[in-house]
Amino acid sequence: MLSYRHAYHAGNYADVLKHLVLARTLEYMTSKDKPLLYLDTHAGAGGYHLGAAMAKKTAEFEEGIGRLWGQPLPDVLTPLMAVLRTMNAKGALEHYPGSPLVAAQLLRSQDALRLFELHPSDHRLLIERFSRDRRVRVERSDGFASLKALLPPASKRALVLVDPPYENKGDYRQVLKAVLEGYKRFPTGTYLVWYPVVVRARVDDMVRGFKSAGVRNLWQVELGLGPDTPDFGMTSSGLFMINPPWTLPGELKDALPLLQNLIAPEQGRWQLNQLTGE
Ligand code: SAM
Repeated sequence: MLSYRHAYHAGNYADVLKHLVLARTLEYMTSKDKPLLYLDTHAGAGGYHLGAAMAKKTAEFEEGIGRLWGQPLPDVLTPLMAVLRTMNAKGALEHYPGSPLVAAQLLRSQDALRLFELHPSDHRLLIERFSRDRRVRVERSDGFASLKALLPPASKRALVLVDPPYENKGDYRQVLKAVLEGYKRFPTGTYLVWYPVVVRARVDDMVRGFKSAGVRNLWQVELGLGPDTPDFGMTSSGLFMINPPWTLPGELKDALPLLQNLIAPEQGRWQLNQLTGE
């Protein structure tokens, strides 16, 4: 049963970290001429209106992108903020991009986007949004299976975003299995794997899984609103980054204290770890 709708969470602090890393990585990877495949295993609706009922109901964006809009920000956010300014040309923050829109704006004519989304409503929204963009192919099928099906890409260059809802705990194992399958087929690809910190042990299991499978050049970045707790609910979120741009960890290290200060000045926290070397 698919109950998750990303529209309730669009622009929250987890989206901001995920999308700033995605946008900066895309900017870096498109500085070479060769075509790039962007593979989004769990694409969502593509973009979100922050004034719509679902976004307003939780108003999570107010504690995320709302805290950054109009502020001086570190350079690592420049590509994401450029996408946001294009979407909000009148100046007020009304629209927030999903990962497909971030990618579509930063990719070039020679690149390709493959978007997977199972929810019928979000799938329809994706189809409508990208129907005229010939670089984009939208599929209503299991995004986990796409790693095996599409890797390695003909162009030998790919950025893979794995961003499931983690509605049940089996998702953690499924993410690990699918990413390792993709990595085995295509170890030089760049992979961004989002995770929530609800139960820390599940994240630690993923770290052990990646390490014991021999994944190289693996990094972990995290931003949180408060300390881990045994209570239910997400306190932090992060990304595993395999083969990120070599400049990115340094940029994140410089930017995270400021971001944490803007988003969660009292109890917030961040971490950046290199889990395995190249
Ligand atoms: N990546 C999006 C972004 O950053 O804007 C957000 C994606 S949201 C966290 C996760 C999405 O995955 C939901 O829209 C959900 O319907 C979809 N989904 C869940 N299971 C899936 C599966 N096995 N394959 C493809 N999509 C799935």
